[in-house]
Amino acid sequence: MTTRINPHRLVQASPADLKHPSNNIKRIVLSTAQIAVEAHPAKWLRTPSKPKSRVLVIAHSDRGALDDHALQTIAAAAILADAETAVLALILGELNDDLSSAAADEVMILPALDFQIFQPDIELASVLAIIELLKPKHIFLPDNLIGDGDLGRRLAALKKLSVATHVLEIDVQHVASAQSGGCVLAQSNLPEVILLAPNAVDAELPFTAKATRIDAPTINHAASPYQAHYQDMGLQTSAAEDIALEDADFIVSAGNGVQNLATLASLASSLNAAVGASRVVVDDGKFPRDKQIGATGKTVTASTYMAIGISGAVQHLQGIKDCRHVIAINKDASAPIVKRANLSVIGDAEAVMQALMIEIEKAKEVVA
Ligand SMILES: Cc1cc2nc3c(=O)[nH]c(=O)nc-3n(C[C@H](O)[C@H](O)[C@H](O)COP(=O)(O)OP(=O)(O)OC[C@H]3O[C@@H](n4cnc5c(N)ncnc54)[C@H](O)[C@@H]3O)c2cc1C
Repeated sequence: MTTRINPHRLVQASPADLKHPSNNIKRIVLSTAQIAVEAHPAKWLRTPSKPKSRVLVIAHSDRGALDDHALQTIAAAAILADAETAVLALILGELNDDLSSAAADEVMILPALDFQIFQPDIELASVLAIIELLKPKHIFLPDNLIGDGDLGRRLAALKKLSVATHVLEIDVQHVASAQSGGCVLAQSNLPEVILLAPNAVDAELPFTAKATRIDAPTINHAASPYQAHYQDMGLQTSAAEDIALEDADFIVSAGNGVQNLATLASLASSLNAAVGASRVVVDDGKFPRDKQIGATGKTVTASTYMAIGISGAVQHLQGIKDCRHVIAINKDASAPIVKRANLSVIGDAEAVMQALMIEIEKAKEVVA
């Protein structure tokens, strides 16, 4: 019998192979391998050396990262930009990520404009100052509910710029948006402000960019004609059990592999996380139906989803497709949830939960 070789497996290449001038990862030394490399050619670099104009992409970050919608918006701008146009990503809030694979040529960060602080006038004044300085040809924003959609509309209204909202289709000449409740696709020329709908563009691009950090100009808010008319009274945190699963930011979810529900409840409480469940445990009567996550349960969008003793059946995965970070705790390394997870702990659910709680307590003591 011949052993089958997985053509999509990671290949191993030595540093010498990587330095080879004709390197398209064709010369592979399997025995002395030191570095793992994906078996596909490198992406080309798009950044123009002497850009004559700019397009601006504005997006809020969330705890130092951009979500898929923001990355798709940068990708849309990069796809449309010609060889003499640079894509500048203006990030409102902190940014820890490198945006070269997102294909931003330049990156400017305004960390004080965190989306959790409601300050639309200050955001508008800052963005207008940058627009007046850089004079971009087009301004792209993700049409979302965390402030970018609102900012784009305010910007267009104040400066009387042409605008298209909830853009589903885009090319260098035109945009199209759904009208009349989605029955009609309305088209227009490429406007100055483009508010992109989610998933209109694939963020996976065949090219990268330099993502050069550039300093933000000093903005004198006291002299700005756009003074704050709002006072942010701050965020009020609710206990995890009072939050609907659809709104929860951190979910600890139980599957058939969880023996001790009390341990799971303690873990969720120490993480201030909401509790969810797979259908099997709901059917077993261990949780009420409104805790079920999946195709026939709830769709959740938590930033962290911890699946404990959950196999990751396709119906369950459907309910967590928009979760940003999935952590799997499972004794079976080949369970489908492990493929979906960003981090997996292979081991017995009870032992891992107990160990985790000890670490959480230690971490809390350090913080206190
Ligand atoms: C029409 C239809 C709709 C459905 N809708 C949904 C839905 O909305 N939501 C949903 O969740 N399911 C749904 N299902 C059911 C789905 O197909 C699966 O049967 C279900 O998700 C499995 O739940 P589970 O992963 O908790 O259990 P199991 O499939 O029994 O998996 C248990 C997992 O726990 C692991 N495990 C076992 N013991 C331990 C241990 N001691 N420590 C660590 N890990 C351990 C195992 O390795 C396994 O991966 C639907 C099915 C159908 C047909």
